[in-house]
Amino acid sequence: MTRLLLIGPPGAGKGTQAVRLSAACGIPAISTGDIFRANVAEETELGLKAKEFMDAGKYVPDSLTNDLVRSRLLEADVEGGFLLDGYPRTTAQVDELDDILAAGGHGDGLDAVVLLVADSDEIVARLTKRAAEQGRSDDTENVIRHRLDVYEEQTAPLIDVYTARELVVTVDGLGSVDDVTERITQALEARGIVLSHA
Ligand code: ADP
Repeated sequence: MTRLLLIGPPGAGKGTQAVRLSAACGIPAISTGDIFRANVAEETELGLKAKEFMDAGKYVPDSLTNDLVRSRLLEADVEGGFLLDGYPRTTAQVDELDDILAAGGHGDGLDAVVLLVADSDEIVARLTKRAAEQGRSDDTENVIRHRLDVYEEQTAPLIDVYTARELVVTVDGLGSVDDVTERITQALEARGIVLSHA
């Protein structure tokens, strides 16, 4: 049972690494951003509500996000563990996650929080490139800047919360995708968390 959380600014590479780590250890990666984008694409009620916030680079309100994660974490495939990408992002979401995990029999909660770091010049360069390749509607220059500000203001404080719980493992997100995966794997192993199929 491995319960991980990936945290870091937009463009640090969380989504890319989440997919690889989840494949390596056979636990589902749960990305709130991906879930919201799928809902937007399918024009569900949730998607229609979330879209205006996402396009403006704002966080989707906790009232929508918390319910989504609560029901996802009740699904059978998370019994062996999970990797959260992009949630929690606010201190209120941390409280909610604590509550969800306690209620779901996950004991004292997470095993580690991987903080993926990258400097802001690299981030803007990566997101601008992704905008050209994928056309994500929140990857325009103004919206990228706003997302970075929102991250600093609302999500960076979570690092202190999880540091106080001695859960944070900081990993440099620069370099090749393989290098970063290797760094994360080794940093977790140093804490006694081995990412391999059960
Ligand atoms: P990035 O990390 O590059 O910003 P994500 O795919 O994680 O990309 O998130 C895209 C958008 O989805 C966010 O800007 C926000 O609007 C919404 N979102 C994702 N996760 C959350 C969350 N936990 N709380 C609120 N909004 C969220």
